[in-house]
Amino acid sequence: MESIQGSLKKWMRESRNFQEHYQKMREEVLQNKEILAIQQENPHLTDQDLERHLMKLYEYQSQSKKCEDCPALNECINLVSGYSPRVHVEGHDIRLTYEMCPRKRLDEEQNQKRSLVSSLYMPRDILEASFKDVEVDDPERYEAIRQAKNYIEHLDTEKAEKGLYLHGPFGVGKTYLLGAIANKLADKGTSSMLIFMPEFVREMKQSIQDQTLNTKIEQFKNVPVLMIDDIGAETMSAWFRDEVLGSILQYRMMERLPVFFTSNYNLDELQEHLAYSNRGEVEKLKAGRIIERIGQVSTPVNIGGKNKRK
Ligand code: ADP
Ligand code: MG
Repeated sequence: MESIQGSLKKWMRESRNFQEHYQKMREEVLQNKEILAIQQENPHLTDQDLERHLMKLYEYQSQSKKCEDCPALNECINLVSGYSPRVHVEGHDIRLTYEMCPRKRLDEEQNQKRSLVSSLYMPRDILEASFKDVEVDDPERYEAIRQAKNYIEHLDTEKAEKGLYLHGPFGVGKTYLLGAIANKLADKGTSSMLIFMPEFVREMKQSIQDQTLNTKIEQFKNVPVLMIDDIGAETMSAWFRDEVLGSILQYRMMERLPVFFTSNYNLDELQEHLAYSNRGEVEKLKAGRIIERIGQVSTPVNIGGKNKRK
């Protein structure tokens, strides 16, 4: 058993430690640049006021305010991750509140933007495409880029009721341009849906079995901006062409909702492609109707240049 003396000595030692610790902390806090600045802005604060709020001031100066002390958002050093303190002086009282730090705010904004672009089966580089990278390039792409920018500029006008039908050879950046448009639209708060046509066909076939077909068709009908990538690259049944694609386009035409397309085919070639369903029937009339709809929801523009695929 410890002697009373022993315990007493230990207590004294520890409490001296504590005292020293406390004094050191106190000096650090009172000489801290940020705390001195608060004092300067609020000359009515007395030394006693500061003493009384020492723990709060300590907390304040130990936290990262503008993310300056944190390596990354997920390595935030603050008490509440992603939040930084603000000091409020009210009379002789000092209060702290916590607000979202700059990094967290940016992160939230980006999440919000991402939620405005839905996509079915799009590679990451397309989802991150931006006009900044599209600009300096081939003259054969100027017209398409000009029209894409023109679309964005006239977003809230009648001109934006029609999207673009971007056609041209493989690898010239058609899909990339769609991605850049989708991201620019998100910047402006307009949501879009980007779908890769061959997967779209597969997905819709699947949906017949799980009974979600109509729900999905409704989504494609109603999204503010629909983007169909690589139309013509799939084999489409007559059913898909007329009942799915046809009904989506018909609806969007009537509601004046834009559709963007990319294709390796121009509209004449696409008509040929659509006339031959995978059952081998020649259905020129029905294919013609789809082409007519495409013309009503988008403006064709050719895009050329070098193949960018490595
Ligand atoms: P397409 O749809 O015409 O076949 P893509 O848009 O898929 O062509 O582009 C082909 C490749 O080139 C992709 O890997 C894409 O990321 C890249 N790419 C296209 N345009 C650009 C651009 N302006 N800047 C950088 N990379 C691009
Ligand atoms: Mg493509």
